[in-house]
Amino acid sequence: MRAHALILLGAPGAGKGTQAREIARHFGIPQISTGDILRDAVKRQTALGLAAKAKMEAGELVPDEVVCGIVEERTNEADCQKGFILDGFPRTISQAQFVERMLGARGKGLPLVIDIEVSEELLLKRLTGRATCSVCGEIYNIYFNPSKVEGICDKDGGKLLHRADDNEATIRQRLEAYHEQTRPLIEYYQGQNVLLAVDGNKEPEAIAKGVTDFLSKS
Ligand SMILES: [Zn+2]
Repeated sequence: MRAHALILLGAPGAGKGTQAREIARHFGIPQISTGDILRDAVKRQTALGLAAKAKMEAGELVPDEVVCGIVEERTNEADCQKGFILDGFPRTISQAQFVERMLGARGKGLPLVIDIEVSEELLLKRLTGRATCSVCGEIYNIYFNPSKVEGICDKDGGKLLHRADDNEATIRQRLEAYHEQTRPLIEYYQGQNVLLAVDGNKEPEAIAKGVTDFLSKS
């Protein structure tokens, strides 16, 4: 794999987390989720973590320079020497430019960006069909992975709960917001010729195989 940094893009329900884990395992590089490293920096009370905490407690957005600083610190650690996967970052063009400067300063080239594209119909089924066991937390999907008895967990007979915000109108809104926010980033990366669009309508294993084969050859 030539690219030092991989960036994963995909709508909620596109299976981004699953693919990131699979690529990370295959190439032995860490998967870095901004949510996780932000929480970790807060917990460890680093200077940037404390700055982020103050903003979050005030109900404000964590400013770009804090998020970027936390990404920079995390990707400077020893386990990132061979490369890394970013999940949930960058979200804006200015953050994308930050990643470029950071990689450039380390003598690395442009990142490779993988966009997992899934049809809206499939995303809706994945997201609206979700049901979670109230006892053990097992996740089912009424379309793709139903329990044997409707509404009841196979393992312990617990009641399956459907999240209130898993209804179609809310999810369509979330997807629309995602596309609106991500479109400029996708165009930006298309312009740099570093975007790999992946058909995410297939089984996760097939997608992962396609992606890792491509990365091994490129
Ligand atoms: Zn259960």
